[in-house]
Amino acid sequence: MSQPIIVWFRQDLRLDDNMAVAACVEANAPMIALFIDDRQHERQAGAVSLWWRDQSLQALADELQRRGSQLILREGDAASQLNQLIDETNPQAVFWNRQYYAESIARDTAIKADLQARQINVESFNSTLLFEPWQIRSKTANTPFKVFTPFWKACQTHGIDTRIWDAPMQFLAPSKWPQSLALTKTNLPEGAHALDQWQPGEAGARKTLHRFLSENIHGYADGRDFPAKPATSRLAPHLRWGEISPRRLFAETSAAPVSDNDQRKFFAEIGWREFSYQTLFHNPNLKTTCLQPKFEAFPWREGAEAEDDFEAWKNGTTGYPIVDAGMRELRQTGYMHNRVRMIAASFLIKHLLIDWRRGEAWFWERLADADPANNTASWQWVAGCGADAAPYFRIFNPIIQGQKFDPEGHYTKRYIPELTGLSGKMLFSPWLAKSDLLENANVQLGQSYPKPIVEHDFARNRALDIFKALA
Ligand SMILES: Cc1cc2nc3c(=O)[nH]c(=O)nc-3n(C[C@H](O)[C@H](O)[C@H](O)COP(=O)(O)OP(=O)(O)OC[C@H]3O[C@@H](n4cnc5c(N)ncnc54)[C@H](O)[C@@H]3O)c2cc1C
Repeated sequence: MSQPIIVWFRQDLRLDDNMAVAACVEANAPMIALFIDDRQHERQAGAVSLWWRDQSLQALADELQRRGSQLILREGDAASQLNQLIDETNPQAVFWNRQYYAESIARDTAIKADLQARQINVESFNSTLLFEPWQIRSKTANTPFKVFTPFWKACQTHGIDTRIWDAPMQFLAPSKWPQSLALTKTNLPEGAHALDQWQPGEAGARKTLHRFLSENIHGYADGRDFPAKPATSRLAPHLRWGEISPRRLFAETSAAPVSDNDQRKFFAEIGWREFSYQTLFHNPNLKTTCLQPKFEAFPWREGAEAEDDFEAWKNGTTGYPIVDAGMRELRQTGYMHNRVRMIAASFLIKHLLIDWRRGEAWFWERLADADPANNTASWQWVAGCGADAAPYFRIFNPIIQGQKFDPEGHYTKRYIPELTGLSGKMLFSPWLAKSDLLENANVQLGQSYPKPIVEHDFARNRALDIFKALA
């Protein structure tokens, strides 16, 4: 029997259309599937995302077992763990799919050089993105794009490869299996009690895509802005852990009976994912440093009062119902609708003047889809300091946003049941409601639901003054 190949899984927890797995199968070699929980060289995933990963690893292990194979789990420094497994199994090669943030690039580059120096064949592939983050460049300046629209146009002109590689039903097994070790268990954070709606793993990802294509994509272009509607794909956590390839999304969506408008809009969102990854790749400090340097001088609020406001934001008790509904959705489900993410993030940055990096860290901790590129790039976008960012004077009015995008109040009341008795526009500004209306609705402002922690017009003008001074 030929020597095995180690396929090192990382952010690609699937068999289907996985280029590292495909290369192993094409080499006709037994596969040793490996996952290393390397907490030293990767940004440690947040609690909810780790919960997802653990479920996803179990699903991958089960699928491998059904196909005559196994998943080997190890924990610790990736280079030493890999070397140990190489000593145990004497592989002919090590394959993996590339990751694109600085810590993993540095680690992988060092490991590759070491293995090559020891005459061990090592290859890496792209299985995460449609394009490598260095591939699409502006023709005129030969630089990476800083604006989304021309970037996405250039991607489309380049052409998107939608050929899919199907994994075999049986994998060749090595003559002897190395030991697999249990990973340290992740405890779910307090309040995350509604995660059972998700099905982490490759099968769950495919089911989610098929449900989206048969039902919810119709009307996506308009419906995606309304949090009460099941109008978006909810594929984000599946994409985060690589349980489905973006190529498959393109191939299956292109073949489905979907209107041009809905398809174009959905593809553009996948395009934003590509744009975020190329932005991260070319700006490795994206998590810590504003892309527009002038924003580093921003006078963020600090001190006890700001801390109280930050806690109110995290707990969904700011007194602004649409913001609070989003923050409670996040806490309970590990997800927040995109429109509400924008409103809640804008509120933290512009109404409360709290550093976007703190909001990014909280989302990182609580989102199942917390993604090293999408989360950071989106926070910079909302703050106005990122690539192709929202202009600083776009300060969402949380009252109008609620009225416009949750007109029936279904979303808001789902997460703030104490406001169920309020209807119409008053739901989004209960402090403006007459006392008999509040009484009839059984709302005691300041007791059953908080009064607003900051007044909208005051906060808006305060933020505009600061932003203007920076511009
Ligand atoms: C402050 C803030 C933080 C965010 N943090 C994350 C994050 O950690 N992880 C994450 O995947 N997305 C993040 N997003 C982007 C977006 O909100 C989510 O991707 C989307 O809500 C996920 O739901 P869905 O899968 O149903 O999206 P759909 O509308 O069905 O979109 C399909 C896919 O496109 C990608 N996508 C959609 N919108 C964006 C976007 N604006 N930027 C980059 N990719 C996008 C996602 O992979 C998504 O799954 C953030 C947005 C904001 C405003």
